[in-house]
Amino acid sequence: MSETGQVAVFTGVRRSFELREFPVPAPAAGAILVKVRMANVCGSDLHIWRGDYDVSRGQSEPFCLSIGHEMAGEIAQLSEGVTHDTAGEPLSVGDRIVYQYFCPCGTCRSCLRRSTPRCPDALRFRYPPDQYPHFNAAYGQYYYLNPGQAVFKIPPNVPDDLAGPANCALAQVIEAFRRGGVGLGDQVVIQGAGGLGINAIAVARELGVSQIIVIDGIESRLEFAREFGADETILLAEFPDPQSRVERVKQLTGGCGADAVLEVSGLATVVPEGLEMLCPGGTYLEVGNINQGKRVEVDPSVLVHGGKSILGIMWYEPVCLQLALELLSTKSDVYPFSRILSHHYPLCDIDQAFLDQDSGTVQRAALLPWAE
Ligand SMILES: [Zn+2]
Ligand SMILES: [Zn+2]
Repeated sequence: MSETGQVAVFTGVRRSFELREFPVPAPAAGAILVKVRMANVCGSDLHIWRGDYDVSRGQSEPFCLSIGHEMAGEIAQLSEGVTHDTAGEPLSVGDRIVYQYFCPCGTCRSCLRRSTPRCPDALRFRYPPDQYPHFNAAYGQYYYLNPGQAVFKIPPNVPDDLAGPANCALAQVIEAFRRGGVGLGDQVVIQGAGGLGINAIAVARELGVSQIIVIDGIESRLEFAREFGADETILLAEFPDPQSRVERVKQLTGGCGADAVLEVSGLATVVPEGLEMLCPGGTYLEVGNINQGKRVEVDPSVLVHGGKSILGIMWYEPVCLQLALELLSTKSDVYPFSRILSHHYPLCDIDQAFLDQDSGTVQRAALLPWAE
């Protein structure tokens, strides 16, 4: 193993990342040192890079911060006592793994009530990269996996391109649909055909959803959604105002509306129309709006009279990551998962990866930290 490894340091809004070398840490008891094989640009990372989502904590630019959370890796070094993954499978150096990018503390009120995805302290290990253990985000050659972060061995038939989006996009939408009780015969609307939205199509279909309607502003993304199994798509240019989109959903759902609407566009403005798209008793699954400070107007009587619910969902239970791997291992012939990561870049081209995904020309950019 090399003595130092690279981190692509986030220096500020729309600024260039800076490639810096840091000493590679030996894992303390219970931890695993991971060699990152692939790290993707998730919508949340774009929000941070664009400045929509402030991670500066009052610091001024240029920052020295780590970002990136969607990734897959291989075990570089196991600490003493770490012998098995979360599912009880034996672990060895060189095994390919995926893992939660957050770390529920296990002792707070949320954790004790078995609601680990809401642990307020789950990102406590996201130190700046100039602090030990330096490697605590995806955009680097290593990742320091702390005790308490669920970890699973990647099945041999799941290549990196499929495993890469498992620990954010895929596991996240599995958690959302599980929490929302989505199942057999339901009709579902997905707002946003980015990485999460595309993965959600496969999950909804596997759950027995009878109709999947996907909304987006980019036709190529909707075309991909249809290839993934979306039954109907709604292009913003064809239905430019919110009311026309609500009417279209009502029309497609036999006048009832959708049993669940999944918000993965990251836009606050789509929330009111999403609530209107729900059938009486339906559930709005809010996942994408991570940016603070956005305001929308909602008539709360719509919730009361319609018996509708809103669920906010962040992070996921370990089982969702395990289910994500199972889905990738058994259904990659049914869904074109391998095409989600459309473009690959070496870590030194991270700026280009962000620019390309920002412009919408790339579905989801994958960074290869060890490629030249
Ligand atoms: Zn993500
Ligand atoms: Zn906790």
